[in-house]
Amino acid sequence: MLSNRQLFLAHVAQTSPAPLLLEIEKAEGMYMFDVSGKKYLDLIAGISVSNLGHSNPQVVQAVKEQAEKYMHLMVYGEFVESPQVKYAKRLTEFLPANLNNVYFTNSGAEATEGAMKLAKRVTGRTQFVSFKNAYHGSTQGALSVMGNEGFKRKFRPLLPDTLQLEYGNDNDLEKISCRTAAVIIEPIQAESGITIPSQKFLSQLRKRCDEVNALLIFDEAQTGLGRTGKMFAFEHYGITPDILLLAKALGGGMPLGAFVSSKEKMNLLTENPVLGHITTFGGHPVCCAAGLAAFEVLLKENLISRVEAKGKLFEELLEHQKIKSKHRIGLMMALEFESFEQNKKIIDKCIERGVLIDWFLFAAHCMRIAPPFVIAEEEIKLACNVILESIE
Ligand code: PMP
Repeated sequence: MLSNRQLFLAHVAQTSPAPLLLEIEKAEGMYMFDVSGKKYLDLIAGISVSNLGHSNPQVVQAVKEQAEKYMHLMVYGEFVESPQVKYAKRLTEFLPANLNNVYFTNSGAEATEGAMKLAKRVTGRTQFVSFKNAYHGSTQGALSVMGNEGFKRKFRPLLPDTLQLEYGNDNDLEKISCRTAAVIIEPIQAESGITIPSQKFLSQLRKRCDEVNALLIFDEAQTGLGRTGKMFAFEHYGITPDILLLAKALGGGMPLGAFVSSKEKMNLLTENPVLGHITTFGGHPVCCAAGLAAFEVLLKENLISRVEAKGKLFEELLEHQKIKSKHRIGLMMALEFESFEQNKKIIDKCIERGVLIDWFLFAAHCMRIAPPFVIAEEEIKLACNVILESIE
C-alpha cells in the first residue's frame, strides 16, 4: 500500500521539486506534531498566517458555532451575513476614515485583482506601477505586477501596461505619471528578504501619487494585523493608502482576504457594469467568523504590544559571523547567509531538530523568521540556540 507521502506526490499537484513533505497530524499553539509524534516549534506561522498560533480555542469555537448556524448561503454581496458585517465594521474601526468599506475575498491574490479592477474604474486609466521583488499573488493580474521576471516569463502575455520601479529609489518615482491608474506596493517588502523603506521614500511616493491622481495601494497581506508591531505597517510611516490589501492572518487560519477602500470608490463596482467584481465564496461566513474571533483575541490579549520586544530578542540572540546581515521589523525577520546552499543546509538541520523555518521566495539565501506572536521568551531562546548550533 502506498504511503500518504507517496499518494501526495502522485495525486496532489506539485509546484516544488523539493517539497518539505512533513506530514502533520495535529497543530496546537506554537507546535506542530507529525505522524510519528515528532514535535516542531513553528517559526514561520504558515507564512505569516497563524499569528495566534495554531488552533486557538476561541477561533475553533467560532468556526464550530458558525458552521452549525450556516455555511455558504449565497454569492457575495446579496445577503446580510452577520460574520461579514461584524468583521467589516470592527476592522474599519481601526482604519482611517477613507478606508471604511471592505470587499472580502478568498485570498491575497484576489484582493490584488479586485483592487486593480477598482483602480481602473476610479481613474479610467490602465497602467500599473509596482516594484522589483514585489509579490502580490500568482493569478495573472497579480503576476503582471510581480517584481520578478523569472516567475513571469513563461506566462506571458500578461497585462500589457505595467512598470516595475526600484523599491526604495526616490528618483524612480518620477516615472509614475498621469497615465498611472495605481501604484501597488508592500509598505515593508517581504519576499525580497524584508526590505524596510525610508520614511522619505514612502512620503514621496504618496506625494507623487497625489500629484498625478494615481491611487496608492498598500499590500499588507503579510504585514497587516500586527506582524510589524503595529496593527498596520502603514502606521509606522503615518501614510494612508487609497486601497489596503489584507490576507494571510485575516481569516485566523481560514482562507480570507480583503481590499479596503472608501465607500465612494467601492460604489463604482455596483454600476456600469453592475457586479463589477463577483465571487461565490469571498467573505465566507465561517472564514469571517474565524477571522473576527482571531481579531478579538489579538486585541484582548494585547498581543501586538509584545511583538517588537520578541523580535528584538531574536535579533539580539542571533549573533554569528556567518550571518551577513539581519533585516527585521517586529516579528518578521530575515537572516542573510552567503548562499542558498548554506541557508538550506542550516534550515534542514533546524527542521531535523524540530524548529520549522524556511527561506524567501526572491531571496533564497535569507532565512525567514516569522513566528506566531504567542511565542514565549524561553521558546525564542531555545529556537535561537538550535539555529546557532545548526549554523556551526
Ligand atoms: N501579497 C503578499 C504581500 C503576499 O505575501 C502574498 C502571499 N505570499 C499575497 C499577496 C498573495 O496571497 P495569496 O497566496 O493568499 O493569494
